[in-house]
Amino acid sequence: MSASDLFAPGAALHGMTVLERGWLSSNNVLMHAAAGETGAVLVDSSHSLHAQQTVALLRQTLADQPLKEVVNTHLHSDHCGGNAAVQQAFGCSIRIPPGHFEAALNWDQDSLTYVATGQQCARFAPDGLLKPGEPLQAAGRRWDVLAAPGHDPHSVLLFDAGNSVLISADALWENGFGLIFPEIEGQDAFDDAAQVLDLIEQLNPHVVIPGHGAVFTDVAGALQRARRRLAGFVADPRRHAWHATKVLLKYHLMEVRQQPLQDLQVWLQTAPLMQRLWQLMGSPDGGVVSLGQRAVDELCANRVLAQHEGLVSDA
Ligand SMILES: [Zn+2]
Repeated sequence: MSASDLFAPGAALHGMTVLERGWLSSNNVLMHAAAGETGAVLVDSSHSLHAQQTVALLRQTLADQPLKEVVNTHLHSDHCGGNAAVQQAFGCSIRIPPGHFEAALNWDQDSLTYVATGQQCARFAPDGLLKPGEPLQAAGRRWDVLAAPGHDPHSVLLFDAGNSVLISADALWENGFGLIFPEIEGQDAFDDAAQVLDLIEQLNPHVVIPGHGAVFTDVAGALQRARRRLAGFVADPRRHAWHATKVLLKYHLMEVRQQPLQDLQVWLQTAPLMQRLWQLMGSPDGGVVSLGQRAVDELCANRVLAQHEGLVSDA
């Protein structure tokens, strides 16, 4: 057993509540106001489809404290989909990392990648920037805001050196990391993802609050698993493309819950990223529909999706 296994995360997380959410939604990190701070700060707001649940959880957890602002680690729909509902419920402001500010203001769904991924996200208006290099004060801590490209070019990490706590978003989970989206869009980003893993190793956090899944302390183990997985993708980018095909299909079925196979085939043909994935897979015979069917079959065999009488559903 390593020293990190013996480290109790509870003490390091004082003044904070981590709302661990089921898939489709990101976790929510609520930083309660410490003395001298004017309100609580929420990191990430989950998916639009769970917005009312997010608001209810926040009401319960905040009790009577005001919520000052929402900050987003990045603008994927599972991390900022609840922004609009949370802002409406609590009157808070919203800050986002630079890079997509104009796109969010104008709700340019192409730039925000919701068109490419064929995903849904409720519109919100950002009020300001969460800039790398400008610390965030919340929960009585100073959080360094660190650029973390790879999964998303504009994503950030939040690191509280005083308590050795890292909010890693989708750059590092206990078992893996989020898709390397720029690679799917034709830009090299495996190196970026590797450098972010190196950065996390240098930060040497005792506790990691990931974007999905439970808080963990075996950071060395998580880094080892992530690097192994990344090395497999670098060695054969088709592995990443095939993994991405299944992840995006599962995500889509989580959004729509169930869909007739015919409609799913239309989605496959109209979500531009699926077309890109088919190309990255070497343009196999049968086009994107056939590739998608192969992915659906594998996901059903693994009980990740279910298929019955022409209807595909989330399992
Ligand atoms: Zn993400």
